[in-house]
Amino acid sequence: MCGIVGYLGTGQAYPILIKGLKRLEYRGYDSAGVALVNQGSVDIHKCKGKVSDLEDHLNGVIPEGTLGIGHTRWATHGPPNDINAHPHASGNGDLAMIHNGIIENYATIKETLENRGHVFVSDTDTEVLIHLIEDIQSKTSVDLFEAVRLALAEVVGAYAIVVIDKKNPDRMIAAKKSSPLVIGVGSDGDYYIGSDATPIVEYTKNVVYMEDEEVALIDRNTGLKIVTIQNKEKVPYIQELEIQLETLEKGGYDYFMHKEIYEQPRSIIDCFRGRMNVQQGTIRMSGIDDHAEKWINARRVIIVACGTSWHAGLVAEYLFEDIARLPVEVEYASEFRYRNPIIYEDDIVVAISQSGETADTLAAIEMAKEHGAHIFGVCNVVGSTISRTTHSGAYTHAGPEIGVASTKAFTAQVTVLTLMALSVAQKRGTISDARLHRLIAELNSIPDKVEEVLKTNDQVEYISDIYKNAGNALYLGRGSSFPVALEGALKLKEISYIHAEGYPAAEMKHGPIALIDEEMPVFVIATQGQSYEKVVSNIQEVKARKGKIIAIVTEGDKTVKAMADHSIEIPKTDESLVPLVSVIPFQLLSFHIAVMRGCNVDQPRNLAKSVTVE
Ligand code: GLU
Repeated sequence: MCGIVGYLGTGQAYPILIKGLKRLEYRGYDSAGVALVNQGSVDIHKCKGKVSDLEDHLNGVIPEGTLGIGHTRWATHGPPNDINAHPHASGNGDLAMIHNGIIENYATIKETLENRGHVFVSDTDTEVLIHLIEDIQSKTSVDLFEAVRLALAEVVGAYAIVVIDKKNPDRMIAAKKSSPLVIGVGSDGDYYIGSDATPIVEYTKNVVYMEDEEVALIDRNTGLKIVTIQNKEKVPYIQELEIQLETLEKGGYDYFMHKEIYEQPRSIIDCFRGRMNVQQGTIRMSGIDDHAEKWINARRVIIVACGTSWHAGLVAEYLFEDIARLPVEVEYASEFRYRNPIIYEDDIVVAISQSGETADTLAAIEMAKEHGAHIFGVCNVVGSTISRTTHSGAYTHAGPEIGVASTKAFTAQVTVLTLMALSVAQKRGTISDARLHRLIAELNSIPDKVEEVLKTNDQVEYISDIYKNAGNALYLGRGSSFPVALEGALKLKEISYIHAEGYPAAEMKHGPIALIDEEMPVFVIATQGQSYEKVVSNIQEVKARKGKIIAIVTEGDKTVKAMADHSIEIPKTDESLVPLVSVIPFQLLSFHIAVMRGCNVDQPRNLAKSVTVE
């Protein structure tokens, strides 16, 4: 959370900073700010609200300077207001700093500094760090690069920071631990910094992903130098970026979320690419093939994830157990890491995270590593921390997902996990060739089926209009449709602000049924499969209590259609692959309801993507 940008170069910094902040706004939108060094001063402009509020606040006055930093905040310490907005200044006003993360020992450092005469104006942990840097500089008269390094050696917590000094328009200093930071190296001596590569890709494809506990000095005259907190020099490793600029634009849609929902036929195909051979009926995934013995001999799979990724993990549980006959446990990373879990050396831990930066998932990985387990990452963002800290993995190749509510990342995760389950099943000999061929062929037809489901958009919009003012909603499903019910409920909560719960359909009798009356919409996945009859009974139970049923059914269904208030038909597919198609109407529903309720679809309140705080 929190987006940070920086620029040092030959052009004006402000337009680059503002554009970069807009690209990073999915990471937080409590406040925005910039600081530019110009003619011996550092001009800080910041205010509560979004990047567009900052532009309004500047009222047409464009700050000048060829060195600058910018920040969009997701508040952790202190309410979102003008004063707590970043950048923060040192006490003498010489330095300005932006920060993503949490300085955990800020209170102790603050107390020491206050005793030494420092006065703080904000509630943030960030301001404490910039004062500490200033304090070290004044005590020791070392240069700023060294002062930053020494200060960070005293810090406990997570940070990606960039510091600038009004007395030195030729330098910016950046450092990171547990929060992401990328440096773009332009061809003409221009340098760019971003929390991810999206603010950089427009200007250069050459980037350095900073590692934990590294401090970078970017100097107009001497270029880029990186040292560790322990003062060991590192050779910057420049990589080439793969993202295309068009994928960061709305491309004719009003909302990123809408565009991303419609991108799913394409993003699922991108997931297959190079991995699935339909004619031969084979799966090739280097992350699995290169460690085949581990998977063949695995005792168990433990999936760790948060939010929507956790739902994808639950879908995978059904797939791995059914097809690969491997026991699976699916854990919230935040719970798993604070227990004292039993992890064996022959366990495989699969960490799922769209951003590849989720703090709790990263911590769970570190813990599992200490126990000697093999760690497999499923991430969307190429070069992300999780992709670099796992033993092996598979990218989801969904392309940048900007809408805060995850859509195409979810279906891409489920696709990758399905491919993994098939590949592992083949290696473990738990699937017949005939079933493998059939499932691969069926998986290959999913993008067309998703395309079909997208055609229900108008019908879903009509249903959305009827239920847009509901105060509560229930989502029900059985088997692998249960995680889809959870995902549907999460989408409605997070972007439409309607209270919703997902339940295994049979569990409804154990409590939630008490809530059902004529006001309660109940969304049910009632597709053909082994528990179809049971779901039909659950629908009867809801109808008997006057609840409204909106059912997702297999095309041609008659029984449920006759009972439901509304039914949305989806194409028939193998039962194990239904989640990839049945989730689409739920995504569309929450999208339309959010638009109708006037909610900010791409930037729901209090949320941010890429949860880099614990
Ligand atoms: N802790 C800082 C603040 O509250 C940065 C927050 C973040 O990175 O999410 O301002």
